[in-house]
Parts: sequence; C-alpha cells; structure tokens
Amino acid sequence: MSDCCYVHVTCRRQDMERFEALGFHLEFESSGESVIVELADEEANYAHTGELPTDIPYTAWNGKGSEYGDYKMACDGEEFVEVPASQDGFVVDWDYKTEQPTPQSLDIIRQYLAVHKRAAKFLQEPHHHEFSIENRLCIHCGVHADAVETLTT
Ligand SMILES: [Zn+2]
Repeated sequence: MSDCCYVHVTCRRQDMERFEALGFHLEFESSGESVIVELADEEANYAHTGELPTDIPYTAWNGKGSEYGDYKMACDGEEFVEVPASQDGFVVDWDYKTEQPTPQSLDIIRQYLAVHKRAAKFLQEPHHHEFSIENRLCIHCGVHADAVETLTT
C-alpha cells in the first residue's frame, strides 16, 4: 500500500544528504555555492511521515495525498512541528458548540509559527545586513537594526 504526494524542503546544503537518503532531489539553488537549497520528492509515500529528520533546521510542505491533506512543517533542530495548512491558510478543527476553533488547533498553529521563526534564522544565505531607511528592517532577511545592535554589544 502506498499513498504518494509531493513534498518540498528548504534546508542547508550541508544537510542535503539527509533528505537525499529519503528520495529527495535538488530542485533549486540560487548558485552552486549557495548555503540554502530547495529539494523535492514528487512521490513521497505518506509524505515521509515519521521519517523526516528532527535534529536539523529546515522547513517543508506537502501536497495532499488521497487519505490526507496539505501540511506545513518546520524544524529548528530541536523541535519538529507539522500543521494542516494550504496556500490559503491554516486548517482548524472547528468546535461547533463554542463556534470557535478548538484550543488544540490554535496551539499547534502558534507552536508551528514559533518553530518556523527559529528555523528561518538558520535558513538564509550569509550576508551583510542592509537596513531600509523607512522601517530599519534588513532588506534581505527582515531583521530589525536594533535587534542586530543588541546582539553585537
Ligand atoms: Zn539581513
């Protein structure tokens, strides 16, 4: 029995082999020396559930299979989180009594966003920050000028 779907991964080049061992191949690199690469597996059985690494930073998403929907995944090297989500937004469990999303559903979305934010710090090309005069955010990575000054002092 198999139920395949498309899985896309953004990770550090140094971690590529971990995903290649699962069947992923290189899909995009901005140059041959880029630190960050994008990988894909068009025929991932059950989206590699339970097989994806949990000890390296990366982000990923899978398209839907026949028995499951789209998911977004993030790992910061310590914590792995997956959440049902499509390009349109997150999928929530609806509580018909309270007419609100379930607390569990909101928790997993918040947890995903927190891990994704930590993972994103590892997933950028090394660069010198260039801050916009308007809002003082780096035009490459979005870090605020004040946050960088705090880090270096
Ligand atoms: Zn920057």
